[in-house]
Amino acid sequence: MSAKDPKVAATAATNFITDIIDADIQSGKHAGRVATRFPPEPNGYLHIGHAKSICLNFGLAKKYPGGTCNLRFDDTNPVTEDIEFMNSIKEDVQWLGFTWDDRLYNASDYFEKLYEAAVHLIKNGKAYVDSSTADEMRELRGTLKEGGKASPYRTRSVEENLGLFARMRKGEFPDGTHILRAKIDMSSPNINMRDPALYRIRHAEHHKTGAAWCIYPMYDYAHGISDAIEGITYSICTLEFEDHRPLYDWFLDQLPAHEHRPRQIEFARLNINYTVMSKRKLKQLVVQNHVAGWDDPRMPTLAGLRRRGVPPAALRDFCDRVGVAKAASIVDMGLLEFCIRDELDRTATRAMAVVRPLKVTIENYPADKVEMIETHKHQQKPELGMRTLPMTREIYIEQDDYMEEPPKDFFRLGPGREARLRNSYIIKCTGSKKDASGKVVELLCTADLETLGKNPSDGRKVKGIVHWVSASHSKPAEVRLYDRLFTAANPDDASTGKDFLEFLNPHSLEALKDCRIEASLAG
Ligand code: ATP
Ligand code: MG
Repeated sequence: MSAKDPKVAATAATNFITDIIDADIQSGKHAGRVATRFPPEPNGYLHIGHAKSICLNFGLAKKYPGGTCNLRFDDTNPVTEDIEFMNSIKEDVQWLGFTWDDRLYNASDYFEKLYEAAVHLIKNGKAYVDSSTADEMRELRGTLKEGGKASPYRTRSVEENLGLFARMRKGEFPDGTHILRAKIDMSSPNINMRDPALYRIRHAEHHKTGAAWCIYPMYDYAHGISDAIEGITYSICTLEFEDHRPLYDWFLDQLPAHEHRPRQIEFARLNINYTVMSKRKLKQLVVQNHVAGWDDPRMPTLAGLRRRGVPPAALRDFCDRVGVAKAASIVDMGLLEFCIRDELDRTATRAMAVVRPLKVTIENYPADKVEMIETHKHQQKPELGMRTLPMTREIYIEQDDYMEEPPKDFFRLGPGREARLRNSYIIKCTGSKKDASGKVVELLCTADLETLGKNPSDGRKVKGIVHWVSASHSKPAEVRLYDRLFTAANPDDASTGKDFLEFLNPHSLEALKDCRIEASLAG
């Protein structure tokens, strides 16, 4: 856990979006309707940043009576998208605890409507076919400081544009020869408003529409119109889209009015230190085999967190604590780890495992004796049931729980020292056996046989508790210990001049072969 107390970092963050919605409900806007959507592009697995957006969008729909949240695949880019990703996204949203009922949509379902809307724009003189090369277009677009210049094709007639656009659709032109652009303002200080592209030619099969199309709509164009078609009232996205909002509104202004005009609201994307959160980089980790797959337990993907054993409630709690802010920040990995531990502590049944075993012989415990110690699976939750711990003369404890020369604040075992075996007796270390190199390979102990489930009768205090398993009843196991995937707090920091892969933690996975686990875990 981080040095900062995560509980403090976690004090109820305000949600400016609910403030906006509450005000709309007060004023009667949208007749109280709260309709949101979660719009992933199916080009990778969801990560914990997406969890933030899912909890926010589905959470708002849950919070307001009659609220709805659509799951919409933003599948407008045929080249990078895939059915595998669509399936994983559905699984992850459900795992996180949300349902879309019958509200599952694909932007590709709207290809015909989007095409018609583009024809509408052309007819109103608001869109034109540009046949410049990519280089020429870049040249004319201008810079942040300088306005752009009109393309020579900007003055094409409506008829010519209609004809060319129809021929683009028919597949008469190769990729990159023409694009359809909005006719807005080449001198706008906002580059997004300098006649942005609406359609590009891309002779590629789409995973849903097959070969039906060879022109595909651009994200900004498709997104706002999809929102309007679905009757979305709050289109919540991350801050990078703030500069795109004038364009979002421009499209809605140009097209026939929809019943509920969506409003785009931006919030700060979730960033966490010691990891990366862009699908492109996560994909690189998978494709280049730096991890074992999208669901590798070290990945910040929902599939990876699930495989690591993170309960979905811990992620929802984490997203709640982080809150929804307008300003970007980096959340400490310690807060996520705290939320996971907190949830597991409350809900997980207990079991013991020894990952680096040290044999202990309890000399005053008979060799043929086995006591079956009944104990709760969770001390605070008796309803979770009982488990049985076989106690025997020979047991294993963790090598770290013994020190030959323990410092003052070490309360576990050392020569002549006492500690309690969890759920069992207090034992005292009376000797040890060493190998030729001087390494301790076995401890000799005696048990205080009066202390099973009891404190010592003479009132002496024994502070340390160590976990253990029976040597004869425990099972062998391989245990994989996972650490953070990156050694640097910000592996993405461009100012270091290094690639993020250079910060991979070489010790993020340690596989221990000779571990021992409680017999009850074997099933
Ligand atoms: P990436 O940059 O990781 O590839 P993306 O934004 O391209 O992510 P999309 O599939 O387009 O991924 O995202 C679906 C939704 O999830 C969008 O509304 C997006 O704003 C939101 N989202 C993505 N990453 C984050 C994040 N780190 N924090 C909050 N929301 C996010
Ligand atoms: Mg995206």
